[in-house]
Amino acid sequence: MSLIRFYCSYSLLLFFLFLCSISAIPTQVNGDSTTKTMEDFSGYPIHEPSHSFSPTFLPSSLSVDAQTLQNQIDELSTFSDTPAPSVTRVLYTEKDVLARRYIKNLLGLSGLSVREDAVGNIFGRWDGSEPELTAVATGSHIDAIPYSGKYDGVVGVLGAIEAINVLKRSGFKPKRSLEVILFTSEEPTRFGISCLGSRLLSGSEALAEALKTTVDSQNISFLKAARSAGYAKDQDDLSSVFLEKGSYSAFVELHIEQGPILEAEGLPIGIVTAIAAPASIKVDFEGNGGHAGAVLMPNRNDAGLAAAELALAVEKHVLDSGSIDTVGTVGILELHPGAINSIPSKSHLEIDTRDIDEKRRNNVIEKIQQSAMTIAKNRGVKLSEFKIINQDPPALSDKSVIEAMEAASKELNLTHKLMISRAYHDSLFMARISPMGMLFIPCYKGYSHKPEEYASSQDIANGVKVLALTLAKLSLS
Ligand SMILES: [Zn+2]
Repeated sequence: MSLIRFYCSYSLLLFFLFLCSISAIPTQVNGDSTTKTMEDFSGYPIHEPSHSFSPTFLPSSLSVDAQTLQNQIDELSTFSDTPAPSVTRVLYTEKDVLARRYIKNLLGLSGLSVREDAVGNIFGRWDGSEPELTAVATGSHIDAIPYSGKYDGVVGVLGAIEAINVLKRSGFKPKRSLEVILFTSEEPTRFGISCLGSRLLSGSEALAEALKTTVDSQNISFLKAARSAGYAKDQDDLSSVFLEKGSYSAFVELHIEQGPILEAEGLPIGIVTAIAAPASIKVDFEGNGGHAGAVLMPNRNDAGLAAAELALAVEKHVLDSGSIDTVGTVGILELHPGAINSIPSKSHLEIDTRDIDEKRRNNVIEKIQQSAMTIAKNRGVKLSEFKIINQDPPALSDKSVIEAMEAASKELNLTHKLMISRAYHDSLFMARISPMGMLFIPCYKGYSHKPEEYASSQDIANGVKVLALTLAKLSLS
């Protein structure tokens, strides 16, 4: 029976002949309950395919259970500390623990073997026919910042589990094992550290060290919080979480775009070629302050004006980079003492600057620092702090993963667009230990991190299908 012939013709007759011929082959998996469920679902017999099974055959047999997936997204959103439609799910809280249990249960129901590491990254593995080969992984996060929506991250976790179900129902058998990962705390809500789980997986010694003394706003230590959720049991050293470079042959994350491009252009799939990474900077200026009436203009050293001038300098340096991909924001600007009749004696700025080109972004940071020093000198104020809080390198998607995602979209007749992720994701850190790629699906008006966040069942199902076929391809490569 030639699968290639089948693929080339797509004729109904051959499809019929194909079904007849495989149903004539004696099955070796009669007693397998997964197969029985698959058979119930698809309405025709499914048998273990041979390992030479061609991934190009798959598109016609991939069916997403969009209704069940939507029900799961709705159900997961009820594990929230704020009322619907908002979702608030903060690391290691009771609701987070319950939501994790919900996911582990689903991983088990899909026949995956589940393990958790010391910070609660959760892994569900489907062993391939050659389990000694490095696995292909997919996943995202389920934590949600206060009063946010139910799709950010969740689509990449529940969607990944459904992608595995899709492949199982189709009769696909992976060569490389497939693994679903739930990353701990992508959002910085509780401990101020974003992508905590994936950053640690990627081997961040600095983070493993910092977490020994990190506390939240209630002064609860990270380790105590982790223990209350059942993690970090008998060790303070979290280096057990580190994965070696090359632990996976590929990693793919499915995510809502969190931007308006796909929806506006009417495209179902975005294929991410690069993830921009932010650097954050804290700046403090100090002047003498004084009475707003009594101190004459030539005698002032106004810390507030220094901050204002620096904010404009940030904009100038970003625009001067010459690339539309360079962005900079002064999101916090505080003046002390903050009275109408008092010259600001202190000012505090927090600056976020991002790019997909690390050198270009770091060049902007350097110029901002030079401006801060020049402004302080000219205005007679003290630059009491210029601190780069973090400076993560951007990541490029891997060519082989991009090609697999593009081929999958094409075979499924779903138009795609190559694009840049301007928000950053766990994929940014997975790129340090594995070839990486990301799939975007449209979301309503690009809304995210608010209750109005929405992605249609159809768009989610398309994303899951492309993910499933991409995983199949990568698993056989
Ligand atoms: Zn996210």
